[in-house]
Amino acid sequence: MGVGSSDENGPRAGTWAIQRSAAEAGTVAIDIEGRKVWMSSDDAALEHVPEAWVTAFCIPASQWGTGFVLDEPVDAEWRAGAAANVAVTAAWWGGDPVLHLDAPEPLQHRRHRSGAHPPLTQSSGRGLCFTGGVDSFYSLLAGDHRPTHLVFVLGFDVNLEDVATSSATTAAVHAVAEGLGIEAVVVRTNLRTDRVFASTDWEHTHGAALAATGHLLHRTIGTLVIPPSYTTSRLVPWGSRPDIDHRWSLPGRLQIEHGNASGRRIDRVQAIASHPLVHEHLRVCWQNEDGQLNCGHCEKCLRTMIMLAAFDQLQHCRTFPDRAALPVALNELESLDRGHMPMWRDLEGLPLRAAERIALDALLARSDESRLTRPEHGRPDPATPSEG
Ligand SMILES: [Zn+2]
Repeated sequence: MGVGSSDENGPRAGTWAIQRSAAEAGTVAIDIEGRKVWMSSDDAALEHVPEAWVTAFCIPASQWGTGFVLDEPVDAEWRAGAAANVAVTAAWWGGDPVLHLDAPEPLQHRRHRSGAHPPLTQSSGRGLCFTGGVDSFYSLLAGDHRPTHLVFVLGFDVNLEDVATSSATTAAVHAVAEGLGIEAVVVRTNLRTDRVFASTDWEHTHGAALAATGHLLHRTIGTLVIPPSYTTSRLVPWGSRPDIDHRWSLPGRLQIEHGNASGRRIDRVQAIASHPLVHEHLRVCWQNEDGQLNCGHCEKCLRTMIMLAAFDQLQHCRTFPDRAALPVALNELESLDRGHMPMWRDLEGLPLRAAERIALDALLARSDESRLTRPEHGRPDPATPSEG
């Protein structure tokens, strides 16, 4: 049975047909069951490859128990990698463990025809997915990833309609790239708001979504680095991992690498804390309040702030509130989720100002206490936290 045939289970009821759709210059788009999904960029040429879209949608398809019909052939090695990822993620989160994909035979197997994917010289460009967060900066400054391009996707963690945050985050990515003499590539997409894509948790699909973006950028970048999430010793089921990301690679077009995942969150903060670009542009917050890079009062902001304080760098960071306000902000945090506790406990023994230490100890104490007196609301707390 060839690559292009449907698997032994045959075509699926409710299969999703994906077809390339007409789009204006600078945009690539597909039609999937009457919905249009697109990506565009003013900074780099995007080129349609069918594998990108199946990559983006195959974990949702597994959850829905459905498959795909394409009118273009796909690469056999990519298909094997994607099928392996579907099998693994279905074992973690439920769903159909088989990637059902009905696509024509690659043309090179037919007589008198050229190859389906004409051979290319793989681009020497190296893209690093970059949001401005700790893991992004860690991959950029402390790793050996040597990016030539920072890739930032508007529409993933920043809503396209949030004009203030979109322009603040885009400006920060451009400034960091400029500071290092490399290129910034900003991509815009409606993928995350597609109702079928969005039906699956973003924590499960974000790695595949980044990989799909890389596929479409293959004319500019031949390697895409996805910054690490969990540290190697604390891996849990997650949408981007060292054992998952590389399997979305598209031979001859794009190699995908998971960034150096050594180091706990606090080690990564320490590695980047004194860099001037971090002081100017670090963005860890997902609250997106009033176009600010960081809200300064959510758990993630405060966790990052106190880590920066422990390395005596918070007072230099211009994207957070003044260090003097930290104890009060810590006192206002009700309590910590169990999943976040190990990262806060990593602060033990590090130097803090007296008022910061008192506020931190009080927060840890009331978090312990609240867990003893309050059920966990049935929420499946991860045994260990995301480092992200
Ligand atoms: Zn925040």
